[in-house]
Amino acid sequence: MIEIVQLPVLQDNYLYLIHEPTSGETAIVDPAVDAPVIDACEARGWRLTHIFNTHHHWDHTGANLALKDHYGLHITGPKAEAERIPGIDRPVSEGDVVMLGAVKAAVFDVPGHTSGHIAYHFADDRALFCGDTLFAMGCGRLFEGTPAQMWASLQKLMVLDGDTSVYCAHEYTTTNGKFALSVEPDNPDLITRMDEVKALRAEGKPTIPTTIALEKRTNPFLRPDSPGLQASLDMVGADPVAVFAETRQRKDNF
Ligand code: ZN
Ligand code: FE
Repeated sequence: MIEIVQLPVLQDNYLYLIHEPTSGETAIVDPAVDAPVIDACEARGWRLTHIFNTHHHWDHTGANLALKDHYGLHITGPKAEAERIPGIDRPVSEGDVVMLGAVKAAVFDVPGHTSGHIAYHFADDRALFCGDTLFAMGCGRLFEGTPAQMWASLQKLMVLDGDTSVYCAHEYTTTNGKFALSVEPDNPDLITRMDEVKALRAEGKPTIPTTIALEKRTNPFLRPDSPGLQASLDMVGADPVAVFAETRQRKDNF
């Protein structure tokens, strides 16, 4: 079993501490900044042993070198972006298994937001750390990939167990939900979810983690086969990649 601590930093980033109590090993996923990570570890008596990076963007790797310097830890990150990951020790890609003490995570290649983006799946704990690939009711912008690539990446995540918790790297849920409602206004699960999101945000609470099952019901980027979405885009019967691409483009201009 792992223990997960969510750290809100910067404008809307979430960092995740993952602690494996048997060994005491502790990882931080995508450290944008160092001070809140060090404080959170010290408050719990944890010593940071690993960084798990999902992709090269500065708001996911900015504290790599400072934390490595502070703890002498070990950095795991995407093989296809190895030269863009500061301090990387272990480049990994799909099929690799990453250990945190006694617990293992499978690595998935999920290109689209960046060309080498990866995700970490802790199957036994039903936890997915997916960086900027899948968000609550959204997905990452396609900075370095094509719609077909991103759709293929999202499909890999959609087949995970519905009760898998999705730990994404940003609190973009309110904006994503407004867009989702604009393209699927009659989706009852979406309407209900947005009421819940509004209530959480009004109290300053995070809307993350989400789950795979909830995303499949409410995330337009996972629903290119939805008749309601297809109708609102005027794309009834169109290819899923084309519907996904159109949805992504509309979100870029939303
Ligand atoms: Zn990013
Ligand atoms: Fe980001």
